[in-house]
Amino acid sequence: MTDGKKAPTPTDLSTQSPDALEAMLTQAMSTRASNAPAVPTAGQRCGLIAIVGKPNVGKSTLLNALVGQKISITSRKAQTTRHRITGMRTVGPTQFVFVDTPGFQTRHSNALNRSLNRTVVGAVNDVDLIVFVVEAGQFNQADAKVLALLPANTPAILLANKFDLIHRRAEIAPWLKEMQERHNFAEFVPMSANNARDVERLFGICEKYLPEQPWMYGADELTDRSDRFMAAEIIREKLFRLTGDELPYTSTVIIDKYEEEGNLRRVAATIVVERDGHKGMIIGEKGEKLKRIGTEARHELETLTGGKVFLEIWVKVRSGWADDDARVKTFGYE
Ligand code: GDP
Ligand code: MG
Repeated sequence: MTDGKKAPTPTDLSTQSPDALEAMLTQAMSTRASNAPAVPTAGQRCGLIAIVGKPNVGKSTLLNALVGQKISITSRKAQTTRHRITGMRTVGPTQFVFVDTPGFQTRHSNALNRSLNRTVVGAVNDVDLIVFVVEAGQFNQADAKVLALLPANTPAILLANKFDLIHRRAEIAPWLKEMQERHNFAEFVPMSANNARDVERLFGICEKYLPEQPWMYGADELTDRSDRFMAAEIIREKLFRLTGDELPYTSTVIIDKYEEEGNLRRVAATIVVERDGHKGMIIGEKGEKLKRIGTEARHELETLTGGKVFLEIWVKVRSGWADDDARVKTFGYE
């Protein structure tokens, strides 16, 4: 834990009367389910959140709703860090970074899954917050297996999803009491992952568990930065390989756009050079060289992402005129 983090003291629900539980439920359903101090507006917060739960409870639905767009969860390449970042969202001063937990397998208990589970336990151990997703009013063996993997010292929110399917709220209080006896949950959040207002409310609930520290990503970034970063690196590599030694290393590649639509990536990049003469070197005769840079970079990006790529590359002179920028577009479908 970092200095800036002050996790609120969890309420011990197991000692509450049914009336108190009902009152708590009412409070949880209103705007803020919080007994914690409000987050100061000055200063950035940023932290890792693991969304865990057995299959089919609504984790993917929730993650997509939190990030605000459909993001690819399964197709990511292995990352160098222990965490696979699946998405991020910045709301006000706080950046929420969601990590994937691919090993939370509860169906089979073979050696591979056991080793995956060990990895996951590691990953879950150093996140700032765990969101444990169950279907409201339910808890079975598969839920229990996931719950057993949660570390005791990381705050965990009990997210009772699919609350829209609960018609008799009176039944929830005893279930909630049982849940609190199973694990010392910091908070209880009844909601529906497919309800936008519930999802927005969840940000406010999670925020206070994240440490005060600088953001890890840009405010607008929603998906894994390394794909963007890799795209710039690949273009840079092709650029220097195809232009030989003539081009100064001060030339840079900026990714202006990196959009994912299912299996398709739309990438726009700008190569920024120092002088007009450098621009000519990159473009080549009749634009041949720039076209080759684009085509080779695109092929490599397609291999990397496992999908189609539309790549658009511009060349700009740092002090140059916007209207004489050269451009090449290469397409994933030929
Ligand atoms: P995951 O396996 O945990 O990632 O679960 P999914 O996100 O794939 O969701 C499983 C199913 O539950 C899908 O059919 C979703 O549409 C549905 N679902 C998710 N959240 C809710 C909810 O809040 N209410 C209802 N009624 N259905 C939901
Ligand atoms: Mg899923």
